[in-house]
Amino acid sequence: MSSISHNLQAVTARIDAACRAALRNPQTVTLLAVSKTFGPEAVIEAADAGQRAFGENYLQEALDKMASIRASRPDLLLEWHFIGPIQSNKTRPIAEHFDWVHSVDREKIAQRLSEQRPAHLPPLNICLQVNISGEESKSGVAPEQLGPLANTVSMLPRLALRGLMAIPEAAEDMDKQHAPLRRLRQLCDSLREQGLALDTLSMGMSADLEAAIAEGATIVRIGTAIFGKRDYAK
Ligand SMILES: *Cc1c(COP(=O)(O)O)cnc(C)c1O
Repeated sequence: MSSISHNLQAVTARIDAACRAALRNPQTVTLLAVSKTFGPEAVIEAADAGQRAFGENYLQEALDKMASIRASRPDLLLEWHFIGPIQSNKTRPIAEHFDWVHSVDREKIAQRLSEQRPAHLPPLNICLQVNISGEESKSGVAPEQLGPLANTVSMLPRLALRGLMAIPEAAEDMDKQHAPLRRLRQLCDSLREQGLALDTLSMGMSADLEAAIAEGATIVRIGTAIFGKRDYAK
């Protein structure tokens, strides 16, 4: 068995165990395989092991990878999620080539994605990225500005607002992982109480997927634990 399919089994076992501990049905958690910096062969290997949803951070890298996979394996029906920072002049290819975007944090980007989503495709699934740890360098909307942004995005015709996403600050111990994840869940709950139909909490990476599932994650974004360490020099 290849190491990628072995790793996928191990991550799935972690998800199942975390769901059991949290008394949750494992079918309520989707594994998003974050394939940034890894080539088309790695994605194909994961896809052949049964993985469907892939996350990418860098637009050009993602488009090249998709084209290469389409050419060599047109039989593979993959779901692509954009999870990286978005420049406003790069929204069109994102609207054209992705099924989900997790990193929307301002109105201008949302408006452009809605305008540019091709008519023959279903509405683009959107998560709003929240700056949950209040770090100045991190992208994401501030919690105080989330309500107005969510209302605006929910009314854009070619977008389907699904939920929230966060990348919490690295915590020094397991206990400290929970607080920001819980805050994201509470923000999502309060938007629901205001009438928005949200079903997605995109949180949890290789190091904190157990805590994220305990706090209600419905999509965990896992890179390193599936594909290995990233080499950004390549
Ligand atoms: C790279 C990345 C991940 C995956 O992180 P790992 O620690 O490798 O699992 C998840 N989410 C986002 C937004 C990322 O950029």
